[in-house]
Amino acid sequence: MDCFPVPVNNNSARKRQRNPETWKRNIAKVQRYSPKTLPKRPLCKHRKKFECLSISMRDIKEFHDGFYKFQDKSKQDAFILKHCSIKQTRRHRPTTGSHKPKCSQISYFMFSPTLKKRLKVCQNFFF
Ligand SMILES: [Zn+2]
Repeated sequence: MDCFPVPVNNNSARKRQRNPETWKRNIAKVQRYSPKTLPKRPLCKHRKKFECLSISMRDIKEFHDGFYKFQDKSKQDAFILKHCSIKQTRRHRPTTGSHKPKCSQISYFMFSPTLKKRLKVCQNFFF
């Protein structure tokens, strides 16, 4: 009989005392970065400049899942950064117009597992 592993009785098991306060806070943290809604397709109709319409619902779901796999803000940011490319635009010659010169341009990409390529999408997919 003594050969069988016996489940340890909770009362006798020596466990490190955990602080329930920290736990609660951690749960709240996780919930804050968890999806609140199901992935939705942005309602944009980009076809030329962006390839939003080529992205399938399955791609959106995978992207969504990939993002929320990390319930941590910094990791989610890193995930987004992986899908963006920031192009520094050269300093423009001083313009007389009222337009503010742009310093950088962010392009958003989404990898489509169905098409096996990166598609340029508008930022609606990210926000
Ligand atoms: Zn779009």
